[in-house]
Amino acid sequence: MKSTTFSDPLVTRLSTFVRSIGIEVQACPIDWKTQFPGLEIRMGAVLVDEKNLIHPGNILHEAGHIAVHDPAIRQSPKFQPTRGEELGALAWSYAAVVYLGLGSELVFYPESYHGWATSLVENFAEGRYLGVPLLQRYGMAIETRFAAERGLKPYPHMLRWLRWTSEPVPLNQIAMHSNSTLTTPQTRSAPNE
Ligand SMILES: [Zn+2]
Repeated sequence: MKSTTFSDPLVTRLSTFVRSIGIEVQACPIDWKTQFPGLEIRMGAVLVDEKNLIHPGNILHEAGHIAVHDPAIRQSPKFQPTRGEELGALAWSYAAVVYLGLGSELVFYPESYHGWATSLVENFAEGRYLGVPLLQRYGMAIETRFAAERGLKPYPHMLRWLRWTSEPVPLNQIAMHSNSTLTTPQTRSAPNE
């Protein structure tokens, strides 16, 4: 049984955001073991079992995984993130909470990241970011030290929420890719689902 609606306002808000940038979110029962209770990645979509969901912020972590993944294999049945993508997803999820005006504790909650959540909250608050080089590699965001000279807004601002290329984007081409029509999120609409 699949559906697209949730009862928790926060889950609804996060899902609406994730869908708006072109990643599908489905409500469905998950009765198998997953990394985060009530969450799974399937064929490029985030599955949410609201009843078993403990930390709604992990919706953003999982969406971040899909967003930074190679688009050529994003929708493959078995999702295998690379190690670098773990940090990329972390950085992506933080950019998302900043964009949504939510606290970073939503994604860096006490039990997350093997007890490193508190230092992640502190480091990100002070501008010591992790995972941004991966986002920059694919032209999705740019580090402060490179941003001004290119007239771009630095991370945690995202130039693009969804990775669109399998190949790295050279630093000097990021601006080119970010101020054209390419910045428009590819929203997949499924009105009759
Ligand atoms: Zn992860």
